[in-house]
Amino acid sequence: MSAELAAYRGELRAWLEAHREELAPRYALPGTLDDHVAQMQRVKAILFDAGWMQRGWPERVGGSGGPPMLRTELGANLAARDFVDSGLFSLIEVLAPTLIDFARPELAAEAVPKLLSGAELWCQGFSEPDSGSDLASLRCRAVPEGGNAATAARWIINGQKVWTSLAQFSQRCVLLTRTGPADSRHRGITAFFVDMDTPGITVRPIEMINGELEFAEVFFEDVAVPAERMLGELNGGWAVAMSILPYERSSCFWQRIAYLYRRLERLVEIAPQDDRAAEVVGNAYVQLHALRARSRATQHRLAATGAIGAETSIDKVLVAAGEQAVFDAVHRLLPGMVEIEDSAAGETWRGEYLYSRAATIYGGTAEVQRNIIARRLLDLGSDE
Ligand SMILES: Cc1cc2nc3c(=O)[nH]c(=O)nc-3n(C[C@H](O)[C@H](O)[C@H](O)COP(=O)(O)OP(=O)(O)OC[C@H]3O[C@@H](n4cnc5c(N)ncnc54)[C@H](O)[C@@H]3O)c2cc1C
Repeated sequence: MSAELAAYRGELRAWLEAHREELAPRYALPGTLDDHVAQMQRVKAILFDAGWMQRGWPERVGGSGGPPMLRTELGANLAARDFVDSGLFSLIEVLAPTLIDFARPELAAEAVPKLLSGAELWCQGFSEPDSGSDLASLRCRAVPEGGNAATAARWIINGQKVWTSLAQFSQRCVLLTRTGPADSRHRGITAFFVDMDTPGITVRPIEMINGELEFAEVFFEDVAVPAERMLGELNGGWAVAMSILPYERSSCFWQRIAYLYRRLERLVEIAPQDDRAAEVVGNAYVQLHALRARSRATQHRLAATGAIGAETSIDKVLVAAGEQAVFDAVHRLLPGMVEIEDSAAGETWRGEYLYSRAATIYGGTAEVQRNIIARRLLDLGSDE
């Protein structure tokens, strides 16, 4: 660990402990998604006022500079203390770097501080009813108003997205649209940064297996978006989509791992203290430890080279397996906890267990990641 990171970690931990009362959730456990979102925005505002949210972000978007590892460290420390839901908080890492890399500098400078300070939430409009794993087949269409892409002041969007996490809470959306011919695949996609209150957008939340309305269908009907909201080049949206991977699969995972350790520690506190429990917890711990070592190496590689690629499919497979191993251990050691509503006992296992089943789907399914590992890393044949 660098001296800078070690010093930052010490300073951060001391500050978080000193402000524990102010940062702790205000709601009774387990809390609803609305509670978790409100808590995260409140915590972001406190951290922003104290200057922590700006650390590790470039100065041109209101940050105070330093390596991205600083923000990863912040997210992991918040998750380890249950101050924020790690899944929600780490979404900053999915979309803010995209804005920084692909938006006009003035737009990035205006928008990123709003995300960091808790004034806004953003969502990711990629998946469609018939385009998930095969994202390049997406159909939500954007056409230039007046017909000329070079001179159009606005683009008109029609189509549908689905599984858009937090759409109903979001002020903005990073949206992938089809701008080339229907069969142009990844060469005919363009990204836009869309205000969610634009007329013509309808958000219809979908209930998840854990009862939360975390994601939504989003419909676009003649939605007019200013041309200056295009992210990257016309028909260059695939590069925007792919730019998300390095952060999603490095710092987001690191924060998720901190949360999983915390949950495993809690299981140890309340599970029976016998040989069987030792074996079940031990197995989950070994998986988490392997995952953490892998994730650490990925982050260092990203910091050193600025780029990571297909090899992060291994991280995605491991993080999903690690998450499910932790909650499978809960299922085995706390009889009834997962089957019966446990919130009255102040526990949150049931909802977390159910949510962990989605880990092999979101951010790229386990099957598709294994295909990538087989074909691109192990050279075991092509898709044809
Ligand atoms: C909790 C959650 C949050 C999400 N949030 C967002 C979000 O904010 N924004 C967003 O855009 N999307 C989001 N998604 C959607 C997610 O990205 C997609 O669900 C995922 O990419 C899979 O796409 P799909 O659901 O269309 O399944 P499909 O692609 O239809 O896959 C169905 C099944 O077929 C398998 N399969 C597909 N292709 C192959 C292949 N070539 N080889 C072998 N097996 C294959 C898959 O592994 C899967 O088991 C979210 C999903 C979840 C569960």
